[in-house]
Amino acid sequence: MEILENYSLKNLNTFGIDAKADYYVSIRNEEEIEELVNTGIIQNNKFFILGGGSNILFADNFKGLVIDINIRGIKIIESKEDSILIEAGAGEFWDDLVTLCLNNKFYGLENLALIPGKVGAAPVQNIGAYGVEQKDFYDSLSGYNLESQKNETLNYNKCRFNYRDSVFKLELKNKFIITQVRYKLNKSENLNLSYKELSQEIDKVNVEKPDAKLVYDTVRRLRTSKLPDYRLLGNAGSFFKNPIISENNFNKLKERYNDIKGFNLPDAKVKLSAGWLIEQCGWKGKRIGNTGVSEKHALILVNFGNATGKEILELSEKIRHKVIEKFEIELENEVLII
Ligand SMILES: Cc1cc2nc3c(=O)[nH]c(=O)nc-3n(C[C@H](O)[C@H](O)[C@H](O)COP(=O)(O)OP(=O)(O)OC[C@H]3O[C@@H](n4cnc5c(N)ncnc54)[C@H](O)[C@@H]3O)c2cc1C
Repeated sequence: MEILENYSLKNLNTFGIDAKADYYVSIRNEEEIEELVNTGIIQNNKFFILGGGSNILFADNFKGLVIDINIRGIKIIESKEDSILIEAGAGEFWDDLVTLCLNNKFYGLENLALIPGKVGAAPVQNIGAYGVEQKDFYDSLSGYNLESQKNETLNYNKCRFNYRDSVFKLELKNKFIITQVRYKLNKSENLNLSYKELSQEIDKVNVEKPDAKLVYDTVRRLRTSKLPDYRLLGNAGSFFKNPIISENNFNKLKERYNDIKGFNLPDAKVKLSAGWLIEQCGWKGKRIGNTGVSEKHALILVNFGNATGKEILELSEKIRHKVIEKFEIELENEVLII
């Protein structure tokens, strides 16, 4: 384990922001975490736990230590007649895990194909797409609690998963290094085609019995056509969360905007499309200097090459204000600003 100084983070965040960290360390196993804690650097500095850098925006240089989690390894913990318990190191790429599972006929994660980032971050914001969230197959995780300085295992209930949320964004924020995550997957296919756009695409293929491979391929195709490639155009996916409002407020909005889209949730709540709200404010495809809003998807802010984190942040504030002005809805960031 080596602590490096004045380290460029440009290749470690999908926005491609050229921020520098005062200190940087790459962690490859649990022993290195304890070694790091024993140096005292964590106790004396601000620090940030980094995965693939695909859900963050460095608004400035980082005056502290970046802990880059590169713990690898995928193994089967338990195999039963109808299910499999699989464990992946926090530093494995999420999409590699999804692909490996599909290739081995372990089913469930196929709707979550091609989400950027690493396994360790998946429970943090309870990643989700096309009608599935990682919580649906989550079993447990292991990690190091920096406060108690102990290894801990957290089961489902302790993680308090919610829409793009978990205990790792609340009480355990910046206090817990996830080292391995375990998922319980099915050995037989049980497709989730609840997401309309996905089922419509699959219907177009016109096969008698869709299978998990078709779901996986369709999700990849949809994502590739809808989202800008961050390797070509820096971005961190959806910049804002989809807002959840009361049914009452939704009905009032519907009177003014009859094409507004809403997805009914329990407890008389409705989830709106933040992308639609932004598009209605005229932001889709708009460019300001080195920053802009993707022309493919209004929820994605992009770096055209040399934008600073501050410039992206300023753009996000402008968008937020416009949406408040027009709809009286305040968008909450999905991307973590650092
Ligand atoms: C093009 C694009 C499309 C996307 N589409 C989706 C989507 O469909 N659905 C979705 O949910 N997300 C999506 N995202 C967001 C992103 O891919 C996910 O949030 C992903 O889980 C982030 O993983 P990461 O490893 O890059 O985490 P990072 O961005 O590095 O970190 C995110 C958070 O997790 C914490 N963290 C990371 N690793 C650990 C660890 N080992 N222990 C403790 N904390 C840790 C960090 O401290 C930070 O708070 C998209 C992003 C992009 C760029």
